[in-house]
Amino acid sequence: MNILNDVRLAEYSSYKIGGPAKYFVIARTIEEVKEAIDFAKAEGLKFFILGGGTNLLFSDEGYDGLVIKNELKGADISGQKLIVKSGENLTLTVRKTLEGNLAGLEWAYGVPGSVGGAIRGNAGAYGGEMKDSVLSVTSINLETGEVIKRENKDCDFGYRNSIFKQNGKEMILEAEIGLEKDETGRANEIAESHMQQRKDRHPLDKPCAGSTFKNVDARGLSDEEKKNLSLKTTPSRSYRSVI
Ligand SMILES: Cc1cc2nc3c(=O)[nH]c(=O)nc-3n(C[C@H](O)[C@H](O)[C@H](O)COP(=O)(O)OP(=O)(O)OC[C@H]3O[C@@H](n4cnc5c(N)ncnc54)[C@H](O)[C@@H]3O)c2cc1C
Repeated sequence: MNILNDVRLAEYSSYKIGGPAKYFVIARTIEEVKEAIDFAKAEGLKFFILGGGTNLLFSDEGYDGLVIKNELKGADISGQKLIVKSGENLTLTVRKTLEGNLAGLEWAYGVPGSVGGAIRGNAGAYGGEMKDSVLSVTSINLETGEVIKRENKDCDFGYRNSIFKQNGKEMILEAEIGLEKDETGRANEIAESHMQQRKDRHPLDKPCAGSTFKNVDARGLSDEEKKNLSLKTTPSRSYRSVI
């Protein structure tokens, strides 16, 4: 494990903003994750799990602790099940499922970031959400070191929410994803059309934070109530992580 000093966090954020992390480590195995946590505890440091950095705003003052960059990699398909490590890139993971003629994650093609970040925030687009496909999630409790496997129903998924986001104590290590055979043969085409819509709407080569606002459930509200709602809506700290 190679612990680095004063690593500029702007390099690791889609905003391209952020000062230095006092300590920074890339964790490629669960053992390295545990070693990094032990180091932080021994030195009395706060620590933070960094995925793809596409839902984060780092302070210009940097981070006075240890940033653990998740590079747990590996994705295996067995029948209609995908077992994927949390540090895998979500879009590359979707590509792998499409190449295996499997459907279910087309909506996620083009959503930036890691699989772990997407599960924590129950990422969604085009009517799909991670919770629709996740069968189980394995995580490590960062305080006790206990490894926990939860079925979907125990992950408390909600709109851009999950038990992992709520308790803030666990790092997602791996997930089992349930998929279907692409009977229609259209999964690739649908995924590509989602990607194309993203390219048309966003300048993907520019520093960007994606959505900054959570959608508001306005079903059942009167026109007057909807008008008031739009005036009151503020950026959601619960959606965008700010450190
Ligand atoms: C251009 C653009 C488009 C976007 N479009 C969408 C969209 O359509 N739908 C959508 O839902 N989101 C969208 N987003 C937001 C973002 O892509 C998602 O929220 C993504 O899932 C974040 O993953 P990440 O790995 O980058 O997380 P990070 O930004 O690295 O981390 C976000 C939070 O998750 C925590 N975290 C990361 N990995 C783990 C882990 N393994 N275990 C526990 N906690 C972890 C971090 O500590 C942090 O608190 C978009 C962002 C951009 C920049």
